Amino acid sequence: MGAEESKGPSVSVNGRGEAVDQGWGDPRGAAAAVDFPNSCGQLTEAVAWTLLHQCTLDNWKDGHAGAAGFAETILTCDGLLHKDCNFSFCMSRQGIISINKANSIFSFRKRSKFAKMAEHFEYNHIPAQMSSINHFRVKSVLCFRENLVVLHLTRNTNSHFGLLDLGINKFLGVFGNRHVEFANEALAGEISPDQSKCLLRMPTVPGHTRPQAPVNVVLQLYDLKAMQLLREMELYFNICHFCFDPRFSWQRIAVTNFEANHTNSLSLVQLDTWQTVHTNSTVADIHHILYPCMKDLSYSKDGSLLIAVVVDITCYCREKRMRTCRPLHCSIYIFSGDTADTLHCIQYHRYTCARHLCPVNYTPVLSVCGNRMAILMNIPYMPGQNYVQVYKLPTVNNLQSLCRIVILQNFATHHLPQLPLPQKIIDSLQFKPEF
Ligand SMILES: [Zn+2]
Ligand SMILES: [Zn+2]
Repeated sequence: MGAEESKGPSVSVNGRGEAVDQGWGDPRGAAAAVDFPNSCGQLTEAVAWTLLHQCTLDNWKDGHAGAAGFAETILTCDGLLHKDCNFSFCMSRQGIISINKANSIFSFRKRSKFAKMAEHFEYNHIPAQMSSINHFRVKSVLCFRENLVVLHLTRNTNSHFGLLDLGINKFLGVFGNRHVEFANEALAGEISPDQSKCLLRMPTVPGHTRPQAPVNVVLQLYDLKAMQLLREMELYFNICHFCFDPRFSWQRIAVTNFEANHTNSLSLVQLDTWQTVHTNSTVADIHHILYPCMKDLSYSKDGSLLIAVVVDITCYCREKRMRTCRPLHCSIYIFSGDTADTLHCIQYHRYTCARHLCPVNYTPVLSVCGNRMAILMNIPYMPGQNYVQVYKLPTVNNLQSLCRIVILQNFATHHLPQLPLPQKIIDSLQFKPEF
C-alpha cells in the first residue's frame, strides 16, 4: 500500500507522532483519535513498543489496515485447527475457496474424513495417477514459502511429504517415507529462506533403533533439490517450535527446548553443525514450562526479532454459552534475533480457542515494512467488540534498515521491482538476504 492509498476518507489523522490513549474507558473514543504515523512520516522516531494505532476490526478491514501499512486484513477465521487450517496455513488467509459439497465429482469419497485444505490440494495440485494408482492422499499443507508448498501425504498408512511448485503448477516429487502415519498436529515444517532446504519436526518412530525409547521429537533437514534427508537431530522433549533466521539462507534456526533440562528455553542454533549459538533459558516468565501454552514462533521480516505467542489453552468453545464467558490470556514475547534475550512482552485478551480454532485468531501480523505489529484483541466482558492494536517494533539502527522502512511505507510492494535501483537493493527491500 502506498502513501497515496493511506489517505482514505474514513481515516482520521492528527498529524503528530503521539501514542494513542491506552485507557480502556472508551475504546471507540481512542480509535477516533487515531494517529497514522505513516501519514506524518514520524514512524522511525516513535519509541519502540508505542501503541501507534487502535481501531475496530471493521475499521481495519475498511481501510485502516492499508493506511497503517499492513497487507493483512484477515485476522479472524472459523477454520478448525489441523483440519482446515494450521500454524503455517490458513484457508481464509490464503484465500482458498471452499469446494462445493454438492459437486458429484467428490461424492465417491467419504467427505467427512477430508478437510477442505487437503481436498483443495488433492484435487487441484496432485497428478491424477498419484492419487488413483499410487494411492497418495493429501492430509494437510505442512508449510509454504512463496510458490513452494510442502504437503503431508499418506499412502498405506505411511506418512510421506510432497513438494509442489504453485508458480509453475507442478508436483515436484515425494520424499521422506516414515513407515507410520502421523496425525497432522504431530508435524511441523518450514522451508528455508533460500528455498533450498526444508526442516520438519515429527515424533521419533519407536521400534527402529531404541524400541523402549519414549516418543520424542526429531528435527529432519531435507534438501529440496535432491529430495533427500541431509541430517537429523533427536530432541529431549516431545514438542518444540522452530523457525529459520531470514538472514542466514538455511544455516540458522531459532528453536525452543533444544537443550536437555531446559523446559522453557529458546536457542539460536547453527543448523549445519547443530551447535547452539545462544540460549535464553526463561522464555515465558509466567510459566514454568513452555508447553502446552507456546503456540507460535517466528522471526520478524529482517531477522532482528523473534516473536513467540504464548496463550492459555483452556477450551471454552465446546459449549456455546461458554464461548463468550471468558477470554484467553495471550502473551506476545519478543526476543532479540541475535542473542535470544527477552526484549518485551505484550499481553491481551481474546475470545477464541487455542486448542480447536485457527491460530489466525490470536497470532500477530507484521506490517509490509516489518516495523509494526498488529494484534486483534478483546476487552473482557465485551466479546462482540474486536479491536486491532498496532505497535511500533524496535528498529535496527543502520542506514539500510531505516531506508527500507521508509521506502516500504511509501511505495506499494508491486512497484518495488520497477524502482530505478540496483537488483541487490530491490532484493533487500523485499527482505531477500544475500545468499
Ligand atoms: Zn484459518
Ligand atoms: Zn476449544
